[in-house]
This record gives sequence, C-alpha cells and structure tokens, in this order.
Amino acid sequence: MTILIAGGGIGGVSAALALAQKGFKVRVLERAAEFGEIGFGIQLGPNAFAMLDRLGVRQALEATAFFPNNLVMQDATNGREVSRIHLKGAFRQKYKWPYAVIHRRDLHGALLDACRDKPELVSLETSSGLKSFKQDKGRVQVTLEDGREIEGEMLICADGLRSAGRQQIIGDGEPRVSGHVAHRGVVPMDKVSDTRFVDDMVIWVGPNLHLVQYRLRGGTVLNNVCVIESEQYKQGREQWGGMDEVQHIFAGMVPYVRDALSFISTERSWVMCDREPTAGWTQGNVTLLGDAAHPTLQYLAQGACMAMEDGVVLAAEMAKRAASASPAPVNATLQAYEEARYLRAARITLTSRFFGHVCHAGGGARDLRNHLAGQRGPENFFEVDWIYRGIEV
Ligand SMILES: Cc1cc2nc3c(=O)[nH]c(=O)nc-3n(C[C@H](O)[C@H](O)[C@H](O)COP(=O)(O)OP(=O)(O)OC[C@H]3O[C@@H](n4cnc5c(N)ncnc54)[C@H](O)[C@@H]3O)c2cc1C
Repeated sequence: MTILIAGGGIGGVSAALALAQKGFKVRVLERAAEFGEIGFGIQLGPNAFAMLDRLGVRQALEATAFFPNNLVMQDATNGREVSRIHLKGAFRQKYKWPYAVIHRRDLHGALLDACRDKPELVSLETSSGLKSFKQDKGRVQVTLEDGREIEGEMLICADGLRSAGRQQIIGDGEPRVSGHVAHRGVVPMDKVSDTRFVDDMVIWVGPNLHLVQYRLRGGTVLNNVCVIESEQYKQGREQWGGMDEVQHIFAGMVPYVRDALSFISTERSWVMCDREPTAGWTQGNVTLLGDAAHPTLQYLAQGACMAMEDGVVLAAEMAKRAASASPAPVNATLQAYEEARYLRAARITLTSRFFGHVCHAGGGARDLRNHLAGQRGPENFFEVDWIYRGIEV
C-alpha cells in the first residue's frame, strides 16, 4: 500500500521514517518549496530520546545535542532560585535516556537524511500542499493546492496547527490564540559575559513573562526565548506583543534577565496557540498527527516529542495489522492509534496551559509557587514523571 503524509515537519518525517522502517511505502507531500524548520532550539525529554533511538537517529543527534546538568527555575523579580531538577545521576538511571536540547534543523535534518537513505520506500515531495481529500472503497484521493490529484490507500495529515486535513475531519476552525507571544535569538558563547547559568537549562519566571536559556550545537551557542502574556492582546489591539511590549513587561526584572533581551532577534515572533483536546481525528483511512491533531502551548516542551511518539505508535499499529493473518480494516488500525494517543496528548495540552499560569504567576500565586517548588528536592521528578517515563510501543 502507499501511505500519503501531508506535511514534512518533525511529525511528518518521523512518521515517514517509522513507517518505512516497518517496510511501508510513503509519499511525503510538503507544501513549502523546501523541507526545513524555522526557529532555533528544541528541548527533548527522555521520552523523545526513546523515540529517536527507535528511529535510528539517536547517535547522529548526540553529537550536536547539548546535555544540560539541571533544569533550573529562577525568579526573575528577585534573582533567587525557585527549584532545580538534576538531569544526570538518578534522573538518567530512572528514565534511561537523557534530557537534551538540540537545534531544530539538526533534529529535522537527521530525520530527513534517514528518510533519504530509504529512497525505495520514502518519496519526499515539495510544493505539494494538501487542499482536500475524498475517499472511496479504501482509496484516498488527495487534491493538492495546485490542482494535481494523487491517490493512496491511507492519508496521514501532519500539516501542523492550521491543518487542512483537520478542517475536513473535525472542522473546528482557527486555533485558540493564547495571547502569549515568543521571541527568540541565538548568540555565540563568546558574546555571553555572565556564564553562571550556561551549563543548565534555565527558565526565569516573572509576572506575565518568562525567559528560557540553554546552549545548543555542542554548547557553542546560547539559545534565548522570551515569552510574554500580552496586555495589548487582552485590550484587543491590532498590533500586539512586539519587542516594545516585551521591554515594558520585563522592565522590573533583575538586570541579568533584562540584559538577555539584547540576545533576542527582532526578525519574527511566534504567537502561541493550542486547541481544546478533541477526539475523532480519524475518518475512514485518514488520520491526523502531531500539531494537526493536538497542538499545545510550549510550557512542557512536548509538542514535537508528542509528534514523534505519534509516528512511532502509528507505525507500530500498522505493522501489527500487516503481520496479522486476518488484517483489520485500515480504519480500525487508525482508530487504535488515535485511542493510544488521545488522552496522553490531551494531558500535555491541558497541563501546559496550567504550567504557563504557574510560570507567569504574580502576587500570592507566585509566593505559593515559590514555596511549594522550593520544598521539592532536585531528585524529585513527580511533575514530569508521567511524561518522561514515556510510552510502551
Ligand atoms: C516557541 C516554541 C517553542 C517550542 N519548544 C518546543 C520544545 O522545546 N520541545 C518540543 O517538543 N516542542 C516544542 N515546540 C512545539 C513544536 O515545535 C511543535 O509541536 C512541532 O514542531 C509540531 O510538528 P508537526 O510536524 O506536527 O507540525 P509543524 O512543525 O507545523 O509541521 C507541519 C508541516 O506541514 C507543512 N504544511 C502546512 N500545511 C500544509 C498542507 N496543507 N499540505 C502539506 N504540507 C503542509 C508545513 O510547511 C510544515 O512543514 C515549540 C513550539 C514553539 C512555537
């Protein structure tokens, strides 16, 4: 059978690779003129590393990844440490795989290269945006944005936050705009004079804001992401969340945090969106994957990790079907995949929203956060345990 995948982001290429490893033929239909990722760093929990290992790209990525010693939360209003989690020692023993940070292009590039190593099974096609699909008697006919028509036995829509496939299956329109906006920037380490935190993944939290910093590319550059909860957005302004508002919201923070804003690129920003968790991503022989199925805010750093888990689970379900003496209909296999993924992804989406409130707390909520987080030792992983324990595939 030929499996069509709309979208060649981290989710689409992970699914393509996972399916090809099981012997399936896939055609990846990407809308853009080139495959690629926009942005800089991405955090990968041990659950994602387990997937990278299964996909056969873990070793290639270890060379460019950076492995922080701790996850540290600092209070940006007074410069004090709120909490830390040790990422080596007991953490590694418990979760087997590391916590790492990596450049998006390195991750996506390694997955793509591994797909390119299987040209007999994976066809990577650019300028091929999905417009719509029709189904008839176990066949899926895809109409592309340029009018071409392509057929396969199955379609996986991994076409991101504003998925065309999702609109045909669920039809829930535009995603939920959170009013949170991210700006990012990467600087070489020789431009960083205060190096107190550079061996860790640090999140500085303050009222309606946070700043994340970690090293990338074997530790040679520092990745900076600042996020604000925009007052201008709440006021309904047309232009909101720009660097002028970032400077305003960060104004009362400690000098280290204000100074870090000079590392932020003004080229573009990211408006953070998600959707209400919704079952029913599967229709006939078509299903959704990654952000198309369950977009999340970035507060648990798990959107791409979930997309990779999706791909591996879907391929495992398809392989089970192929090995069966009396294979179930494709739809039953896709339903099994959705069922395996739905609640875990929903928990990520809803907990991410909550964790966003925790990070951006002010007043009494901030005091309570600092008090409770301060009581937790660095080898107590209870908040992340359900995520990092990963999945059985
Ligand atoms: C600021 C920020 C920080 C983040 N940090 C992390 C993190 O640390 N860890 C983590 O795990 N996740 C993180 N995420 C989330 C992560 O980036 C996403 O969850 C992940 O990239 C989703 O991958 P995807 O392949 O499902 O979708 P996308 O990356 O959106 O890929 C979709 C692909 O489909 C293509 N496409 C779109 N429409 C069509 C169409 N109609 N037909 C064909 N192709 C189409 C697009 O061009 C794109 O290539 C972060 C997100 C943001 C915004």
